[in-house]
Amino acid sequence: MSEFTPQPSCADASEPNSLSVTQAQERIANLIQQAISAWEYCAVRDALDRVLHQPIISTVEVPPHANSAMDGYAIYSSDIKDEAFTLKQVGIAFAGKPYNGEVNKGECVRIMTGAMMPSDCDTVIMQEHVEAKDSNITIHGKQSHGQNVRHAGEDLKLGDVVLPEGHKITPAELGLIASLGIAEVVVKRKVRVAFFSTGDELRSIGETLEAGQIYDSNRYTIYGMLKRLNVDILDMGVVADDKSALRTALQLASQQADVIITSGGVSVGEADYIKEMLTELGQVDFWKIAMKPGRPLAFGKINNALFFGLPGNPVSVMVTFYQFVSSALRQLAGQSQHSNQTMQMNCVSQIRKRPGRVEFQRGIIFSDETGQSHVKTTGEQGSGILRSMSLANCFIILNEECDGIQPNSIVTVQPFSGLI
Ligand code: AMP
Ligand code: MG
Repeated sequence: MSEFTPQPSCADASEPNSLSVTQAQERIANLIQQAISAWEYCAVRDALDRVLHQPIISTVEVPPHANSAMDGYAIYSSDIKDEAFTLKQVGIAFAGKPYNGEVNKGECVRIMTGAMMPSDCDTVIMQEHVEAKDSNITIHGKQSHGQNVRHAGEDLKLGDVVLPEGHKITPAELGLIASLGIAEVVVKRKVRVAFFSTGDELRSIGETLEAGQIYDSNRYTIYGMLKRLNVDILDMGVVADDKSALRTALQLASQQADVIITSGGVSVGEADYIKEMLTELGQVDFWKIAMKPGRPLAFGKINNALFFGLPGNPVSVMVTFYQFVSSALRQLAGQSQHSNQTMQMNCVSQIRKRPGRVEFQRGIIFSDETGQSHVKTTGEQGSGILRSMSLANCFIILNEECDGIQPNSIVTVQPFSGLI
């Protein structure tokens, strides 16, 4: 460059041609349109974190029979009296070992939690309310009709939609599916993601660093976040700032993956070739987003693969992944719920900010001595400081207009929810 042209620094307020975070998210969602349509059968245990392609419909009633919610005595509610009353014990029922004999009015059956209710008994008396002398059972205290019984089909009825299509399966739901006796479920194919880091200065773990070189950390943070999203991963290593190497890597990635993610090289530096390569290979937009950190972002398509060119700075990578890539991957995976959750919370820190861009400050949600939740910042917020991400458990989101906040103000918080 012959002339020195001052460029706006990262600390400057918004630029007229930059997109808002929401606009960028909308454009991404619009380009995706359809989730992956391929599906496969999957054993229940392997269905953890997978997305249902077909709803789970109950083929049984849960529980399948009326059973006792307590250890006690099964009786007819019509025997209940206001004063103490005595019934005759005629048998005993265990969970899995029902009492099959008859029970008449004036009689009762000793019953354990989970045991099938005998005959037409409709009420269970807690054993703590009972005095037992041989087979004479005297019941004290106030008892109500129908108490302590779990009814057949109380949890699930035949034909109930237990989990809808597009639902991502949690540990609780593995149990729910198992309780129906279902061994296999139909899930969507996992999204395939290829990713690589770009930069001549980057070295992989195990290599010796020469002057000016650094270890590649973005491939590790991206790997971790992709793992948490349960996608299939193709790690393509580090690619040099070299047009032909980038071209080859991008072409290979687009043949193998649904989504390509790169980091670095999307800015305006002399060795930032991503833009040139993408213009040649696909339809990609380069965006300046009114956010901090993470302003430059490339997004589009190379052949059929979606492309995300994330910035190089380690914190920017994680912020842009969280704000743009994570929901796109969930949408592509067919998950019905794909946006990140936010909540309002008291912030105890003072935060300085200039109006113009949305800021994603790294925050820590903590509980005070009364059990109330608050948030504070992690301190230093430079976009290269990965430590701030490791200390944090949430983003504090300060909107474009915000010009800083005083201690004990209500702020919007986005918990990492295990993704970061
Ligand atoms: P770039 O956008 O390529 O100019 O990168 C911006 C900054 O992030 C530079 O300081 C890079 O050295 C750094 N950086 C880029 N990629 C990585 C990476 N994979 N791991 C760690 N730092 C990186
Ligand atoms: Mg670079």
